[in-house]
Amino acid sequence: MTDRFERGFGTRCVHSGEAPDPTTGAHGVPLYQNVTYAFHNAGELDAMRDGHRPHFVYSPGGNPTVRCLEVKLADLDGAEDAVATSSGMVAISTTLLHLLAGGGHLIASADAYELARDFMCQDLPDIGATVSMVDTTDPETVAAAITPATRAIYAETFSNPTLRVADLDALGAIAEAHGIPLVVDNTFLSPALCQPLRHGATLVIHSATKYLSGHGQTQGGVVCGPRTLVNAIRAKMIRHGGAMTPFAAWVLLAGVKTLPLRMERHGSNALRIATLLANHPAVASVNYPGLIDHPGHDVATRLLSDGVRGYGGMVSFRPRDGVESIAPFLNALKVCTLAVSLGDCGTLVWPFHGTDLIRLSIGIEEPDDLEADLLRGLERLTMLAPAAD
Ligand code: PLP
Repeated sequence: MTDRFERGFGTRCVHSGEAPDPTTGAHGVPLYQNVTYAFHNAGELDAMRDGHRPHFVYSPGGNPTVRCLEVKLADLDGAEDAVATSSGMVAISTTLLHLLAGGGHLIASADAYELARDFMCQDLPDIGATVSMVDTTDPETVAAAITPATRAIYAETFSNPTLRVADLDALGAIAEAHGIPLVVDNTFLSPALCQPLRHGATLVIHSATKYLSGHGQTQGGVVCGPRTLVNAIRAKMIRHGGAMTPFAAWVLLAGVKTLPLRMERHGSNALRIATLLANHPAVASVNYPGLIDHPGHDVATRLLSDGVRGYGGMVSFRPRDGVESIAPFLNALKVCTLAVSLGDCGTLVWPFHGTDLIRLSIGIEEPDDLEADLLRGLERLTMLAPAAD
């Protein structure tokens, strides 16, 4: 057993990929904010080119600060290697461009993140690929969609924004039986709650912009998996100019240290708020896999046994009185912020345009304050449209 599995997850969040700087003794990973790397002599350059001595060359193709983050994130997901990208979308697009190079067929989740679906439907056909958007929460539907041309299955562990749960173990078994990779976007959970590679995924993708950062201060993405595959995706990512900046990696290295602490608090706060919503007369329905009557609760409980307790911080709901009641609810909030994105320390509330769906990215504030704030908003829903009975 290697050392990385002997240490607990929280210890690895702090220490993996990091060591005091050998030159200065700096305790934290320094920010290597430089573009090029000097060789002492031609022999050193030759040794690097012959593969005898690793050496950084040009920062967009490899940077010490970024590499420390990659090593840490690979360890947290139990992966052989990881590649960091400038955004979650670059991680998704580069991975799929690699897997579907020259054409082929992709099976993807019909309720995945909207921009990811747009990429699959609008850009993958440009390289001759076809896409079947299916209900990836139903393994039988996924199995039935497989054709001889299928090159990959793509799913989100918990979908954005409807919080539907994909049974990764079942999808992984289907992928394995057909010799194709299962690609999982685990942004909503982070490796603190679920490690998809343990559940049959071949590659796991995160938008690092969200929980890995945790503070809404930087953008990034990561793909973790087998080294050969990760290196092929890295090569394509470099050709596309999609590398993570050293500064983003440096900010992320700080964020990841507190990941399990934050995720536990996001989860306990979210369960409390989801329960509040589920019992409130102004609310028609709540999507939170931590609630025992959520259709994906049992699968979620199995998938989330890898890490810290909880079902994550993402909740969505529909008000009983429809779209018109949403504005007064939003305007009454004083602690929660009306803003898109997720995974921030502060609670973010986002209504989806043209629908009655409201997404909450529950933060790490005091639960009493959050509950009081949301109750204030929910009262506005009820006041506007009192119950008919
Ligand atoms: N995956 C999910 C589930 C997301 O919610 C998002 C962004 O919201 C992304 C991927 C894309 O991440 P980024 O904004 O870092 O490109």
